[in-house]
Amino acid sequence: MHLFTYRNGELYAEEVPVKKLAETYGTPLYIYSYTTLLKHFLAYRDAFDRVPHIVCFALKANTNASVLRLIANNGGGADVVSGGELFRALRAKIPSKKIVYAGVGKTEGEIRYALKSRILMFNVESGDELIEIDRLAGTMKVKAPIALRVNPDVDPGTHAYIATGLKKNKFGIPIEEALEYYKLAQNLKNTKIIGIHKHIGSQITKVSPFVDALKKVLLLMDALQGRGIQVRYLDIGGGLGITYKDEDPPLPQDLAKSLIPMLKGRNVTLILEPGRSIVGNAGILVSQVLYLKKRAEKYFVIIDAGMNDLMRPSLYGAYHHIQPLEKTVRKTICADVVGPICESGDFLAKDRELPALKRGEFIAVMSAGAYGYSMSSRYNSRPRSAEVMVKGKEHSLIRRRETCYDLIRGEHIPDFI
Ligand SMILES: *Cc1c(COP(=O)(O)O)cnc(C)c1O
Repeated sequence: MHLFTYRNGELYAEEVPVKKLAETYGTPLYIYSYTTLLKHFLAYRDAFDRVPHIVCFALKANTNASVLRLIANNGGGADVVSGGELFRALRAKIPSKKIVYAGVGKTEGEIRYALKSRILMFNVESGDELIEIDRLAGTMKVKAPIALRVNPDVDPGTHAYIATGLKKNKFGIPIEEALEYYKLAQNLKNTKIIGIHKHIGSQITKVSPFVDALKKVLLLMDALQGRGIQVRYLDIGGGLGITYKDEDPPLPQDLAKSLIPMLKGRNVTLILEPGRSIVGNAGILVSQVLYLKKRAEKYFVIIDAGMNDLMRPSLYGAYHHIQPLEKTVRKTICADVVGPICESGDFLAKDRELPALKRGEFIAVMSAGAYGYSMSSRYNSRPRSAEVMVKGKEHSLIRRRETCYDLIRGEHIPDFI
């Protein structure tokens, strides 16, 4: 669900006409709905109410401080994958005891920072990393709380680039080797085993991969118990899909209905790491049509947002619904919606049936709240767009548009040039 809806043929963000926001803040513009975000977050909280749990929002989907503060204010935690994300989570006042840290390439500096911050746990992705974390914890005279990220070899049935729980993926430790690594961890002096972690992929539109993966993880948990290793936290990752086009993904309550009975009699705190399903449909990207080019076969609609603003179509061939802010009766055209960037891969839609768009009008690229701004770049020296949040009739800039000075910040020309 989301609160970007037409009223009398005009697109609104909650109680505010999107056109007004585009005119006030300029384009390209990311707009988030506070109420949608909150509803999506509370849907997890309510669904898993019956069991001890922490909803750790996956920062990489959206790192805006206002989004994170909203999560923090409602009892949420964070799933981070870098020191930078840890910094953002802490700055947004997410309690360190609700922060989990995954990622295959944690550096010494990042590990020290996380140890110093006393995060809930490291989701460790290799034997080398385990030993490194133990060593650093020793030098800091602290105990490192860890879970091993296991790779359960379950096909999430999603795009190859966002599948993470298959044998061929770089993530985690193969589940059949996990027991060995837990034994290793058990013998490390500065490491404390507290959990198991898995995350099998993103934009998953069925419950069954979650069930299959959990089954395998629970078998491992039993095997650990047999060796006297008790885990308190069971981190089942994120990955629930959203509707971009015509997908019909399960809701958090569907996930809860299938997974909670499987945990019966187990004394664990569940950790969930949703990203996309909280913020994806809570955000849109608004852009202005600059030019139209007609070719024999089709149109090119050239807009002021490009792959640097929203990379998903270029990176994954992802579908984002595109609609004008004004719903009027028009003929349809077949068009590629493209950005100003000097790359043929710079498109937001290909061969799309669209209402005949006009020069100067604004369009909304839907479901852009997750992996939108957070994946954006300044390629072609395009200052990053602004971000706005709407709550009812209120709206506020939550990140100012960048200027050309932001482009050159930090650059230095040495004397030898
Ligand atoms: C990306 C990621 C998530 C979030 O995935 P979504 O599909 O956005 O829910 C959760 N956990 C880990 C470890 C991740 O890498």
